[in-house]
Amino acid sequence: MTTLLISDPLFLDHAMPEGHPERPDRLRAIDKVLKLPAFDGLKREKAAPGDLSLAELAHPAAHVREISRLAPEDGHAYIDGDTSLNPGSMPAAAAALASMRRCVEAVMNREANNAFLAARPPGHHAEHETAMGFCFFNTVAVGARLAQQQGAKRVAIVDFDVHHGNGTQDIFWRDKDVLFVSSHEMPLYPGTGEHGERGEHNNILNMPLRAGDGGAAFAEAYRGHAFPAIRNFAPDIILISAGFDAHIRDPLGNLELEAKDYGWITEELMELAEKHCGGRIVSTLEGGYDLQGLAGGVASHVHKLMGA
Ligand SMILES: [Zn+2]
Repeated sequence: MTTLLISDPLFLDHAMPEGHPERPDRLRAIDKVLKLPAFDGLKREKAAPGDLSLAELAHPAAHVREISRLAPEDGHAYIDGDTSLNPGSMPAAAAALASMRRCVEAVMNREANNAFLAARPPGHHAEHETAMGFCFFNTVAVGARLAQQQGAKRVAIVDFDVHHGNGTQDIFWRDKDVLFVSSHEMPLYPGTGEHGERGEHNNILNMPLRAGDGGAAFAEAYRGHAFPAIRNFAPDIILISAGFDAHIRDPLGNLELEAKDYGWITEELMELAEKHCGGRIVSTLEGGYDLQGLAGGVASHVHKLMGA
């Protein structure tokens, strides 16, 4: 079993103003825990050289140019009240996209069984034409298109971040070859993700949870709805929008998951992947704002990906 891990100090250069929860220390906490001996078996790589043109797989070229144009030479340039660029943002975003390409290639070519991309900025709130919610370009959506270019016809995306992956839903709303499954707290930012939002081909599955829900409600949603939908869809690869802000310690959400719940969901998704798509999984970091909760969740997730 080989798990590819991509992490890079370059992803620390993107920073929003002091005090913002989506901060470089998140990756430092992840790097620290993944240095423990339990993770010695990871196949570790630095970021692939940045390639912003990959953003055009999920966003109009004019929109990608517009975001690049906003990037400042110093200080911060705001896209919305809580989403801003600094001089390190575009290099980090471009490297995240190129590293997603590397992860998808490695998993499709069988160089690795699965992969975890520990990159910032996150991506799942980035809609086709709108950057928002700490996200500029939708990394997991670009990953789905890259997987299709590499021969995966059907792609399932599973998003267990506490926030709804509105961007991913928007991008694949009309796409029968992409199944998007999201569990998230409602009501919560960004406000979308009702069960009735199903996509044009019934290819979107939203599983809203309520504040205070924990591992049992989470498992019930996946066992009762997500796993049957994924089995029925029979994907050629599973991508994961891995946010860890549904953790009980997280300051931005009110769900009550624990590290072991991230281990459980990972194991279940690996079993589904084994059955339908040769075990192929690429997981990419989204949210997770309590450093201890984040590090514990990532450790459980990656440890399971390694087959432990
Ligand atoms: Zn989130």
